[in-house]
Amino acid sequence: MPLSTPALLVHSAGQAFARGTVQRRDVGPSDVLIDIAFAGICHSDIHQAREEWGRAIFPMVPGHEIAGIVREVGSGVTKYAVGDRVGIGCFVDSCRECENCLAGEEQFCLRGNVATYNGRAYDGTDTYGGYSTQIVADESYVLRIPEGIPLDAAAPLLCAGITTYSPLRHWGAGPGKRVAVIGMGGLGHMGVQIAHAMGAHVTVLSRTLAKEAEGRALGADAYHATEDATTFASLRNRFDLIINTVSADIPVDRYLSTLRLDGALVFVGLPENPQTFRVFSLTGARRSIAGSNIGGIRETQEMLDFCAEHGIASVIETIGADEVTDAYDRVVRGDVRYRFVIDTATIPEAA
Ligand code: NAP
Ligand code: ZN
Ligand code: ZN
Repeated sequence: MPLSTPALLVHSAGQAFARGTVQRRDVGPSDVLIDIAFAGICHSDIHQAREEWGRAIFPMVPGHEIAGIVREVGSGVTKYAVGDRVGIGCFVDSCRECENCLAGEEQFCLRGNVATYNGRAYDGTDTYGGYSTQIVADESYVLRIPEGIPLDAAAPLLCAGITTYSPLRHWGAGPGKRVAVIGMGGLGHMGVQIAHAMGAHVTVLSRTLAKEAEGRALGADAYHATEDATTFASLRNRFDLIINTVSADIPVDRYLSTLRLDGALVFVGLPENPQTFRVFSLTGARRSIAGSNIGGIRETQEMLDFCAEHGIASVIETIGADEVTDAYDRVVRGDVRYRFVIDTATIPEAA
């Protein structure tokens, strides 16, 4: 019998969250049933629940930073056993046969992967995410959370962690490289820690210096306020790589001017508006602008193991189900240090 699981639902764009239930599919041969312990609140949840990226599917249960414990496994499951500590990120299936899936880059599946929520499975059923108490997923899209990382602080790694790890790896962050992270938020505070652990020289470019002490404690070697008019002039030709995590418009040309020869400005932040730049800002130093999207399953596991090895986790504020609607406004205001995580035990009606 399909499982009815308590969840936090938003019934139309921008509405408050309400308690309800969603149906999870039967546990198939390759599926695991996970008791969700914690779910992070990513800014992408807010963009989608408010329809800032275009039409969304409602009712919506957001949440793609999921950490929990395996409760049940299907007859053919080999990777996981009951009691294992596991996570789910931004997608729960992909075609498994296109060139990108075969290369382990399922986030770029040519058929389109199945988003953890606000998506449709290949059989046409709507998907519901982690603001819920249980989820059923194919074991191939489930990650192992290493023992060293507490489940609550691990949840945000499933999106914020991999979204910064992947471009840092791809663009070669490491010793001798100067990396800047724009925005000291959920993604940004992970990017700082990971780039530092990779051995790069790390600079935070934040609007103000309000979070400087914490940024330096997480591994930043330098910290600048972008609202200070003198900042950009003082940073010309400085960085090899900039990871932009900002959810809003940025002055692209000013950031490009801070890149050295062959430097790259990589967007991971996903503002709703188009961004513009002068071509001269690129040609003047063979600079490039690029984008990156989460990471594949293999790389996400590599990131989790890397974080455990280096003692890295998310800095979190744990909240209950009744605080989620307000938490969205707080994230948009920048009033979170640095990721909200929902304790899913507070979701059922009786809690
Ligand atoms: P977040 O916690 O809100 O962090 C964004 C940071 O950007 C803020 O902390 C703030 O840093 C800065 N910021 C916010 N508004 C700004 C503004 N108007 N002007 C300048 N800076 C501003 O959000 P997040 O969860 O890290 O997500 C960031 C973005 O990445 C979102 O657009 C999200 O959808 C996207 N995302 C993309 C991927 C991907 O795979 N590409 C994955 C996850 C998320 P300061 O206070 O330090 O300035
Ligand atoms: Zn996310
Ligand atoms: Zn594919």
